[in-house]
Amino acid sequence: MTACVFDDLVGQERVAGYLRTAIESGSASHAYLFVGPQGSGKRTAALLLACAFVCDDNGCGACPACARVRRGAHPDVRVIEPQGAATYLIEQVRDELVPDMWLAPADGHAKVYIIERAEALGDASANAFLKSLEEPPPSVKIVLLTDDYDAVLPTIVSRCQVVRFSPVTPARAIAVLAERTGVGENGARAALAASSGVLPRALEFVRSPQRAAARDAMLAVMRDLPVMDGRDVLVSARDVLKAVRAPLEDVKARQEGEMRERVEFMGRQAQVKDVEARNKRELTAREREAVSELFAIAESWLRDALASSVGAASVMANRDASDDIAVAGECMSPAAVEEALEAVRRARRRVSYNVSPQLAVEAMLFEIQEARVCPRSWESP
Ligand SMILES: [Zn+2]
Repeated sequence: MTACVFDDLVGQERVAGYLRTAIESGSASHAYLFVGPQGSGKRTAALLLACAFVCDDNGCGACPACARVRRGAHPDVRVIEPQGAATYLIEQVRDELVPDMWLAPADGHAKVYIIERAEALGDASANAFLKSLEEPPPSVKIVLLTDDYDAVLPTIVSRCQVVRFSPVTPARAIAVLAERTGVGENGARAALAASSGVLPRALEFVRSPQRAAARDAMLAVMRDLPVMDGRDVLVSARDVLKAVRAPLEDVKARQEGEMRERVEFMGRQAQVKDVEARNKRELTAREREAVSELFAIAESWLRDALASSVGAASVMANRDASDDIAVAGECMSPAAVEEALEAVRRARRRVSYNVSPQLAVEAMLFEIQEARVCPRSWESP
């Protein structure tokens, strides 16, 4: 049976072919290290490979198991991130990850661990993990991801099958989006900018009117910031967050429907606790993606302002807003744009340290507003 799920690994046809062959010939490794720059599709590829491992049909892409993996809601597919600020804590690896590997799969035939930022496994945490990486329980598959190959410990590299992802060039990404959805070049550029260049997310963007509406709202805020008062900024922060979170309502409705079905079908014995935990994980991941979309749009808007001010309009991502952006570009010095970009980066960091998105977005908008104040307006009365 063909492992159809790999058809969705857009822009990485060589890797898709390699993984498909491994699965279909039954020669897949139990440990992979996916190496490639951010946005090259490593995480998507890891999820698709997980589909192939837990699906009855080598990753058909269509069955409930495949669907669950893709939405991050399969009980046997875990995405692991460092709990420490910069690295994996030894306790996380030794007391949580490794013992979990020895529990039997809940639903499928396999358990898959997708380990983000493999370079953040330091000596101590790696040591706690090497034995399991070399010889995991038969049902366990491990996929490590990194965009910094040189920083991954050699003891880890040597125990994995290394798969390299090449960067997807913007031209290639635009071509893939056009081919798959019929979107024009300007629409494709806007989708990629809102999705931090991650092709599968850009593909979703093109198909989602809600995400387009959220982008429009954010572009309008970026345009209007210089004329807003404090209250306007607070209201705008609330409104853009609401817009960007709108697609989450569908996810919640789907989860509630599934939960009702489960309880109806299984009565009082229904094991709802695991499902609840899983649903919560899915929502958290979706929420994080949604908020990061606002930051990506703000960043691309500011870069466009810079491009416009130096006469490089051809590289602009938000061409449908090019007139507004040109006005801002005339006002902002490169230093002011850099200051505003730093405000976006700060907001990203705040959210990653669990500051509420509302507070982080408010602070970001005030800081960008400050950077946008046109120096010319300060000139002598
Ligand atoms: Zn399937």
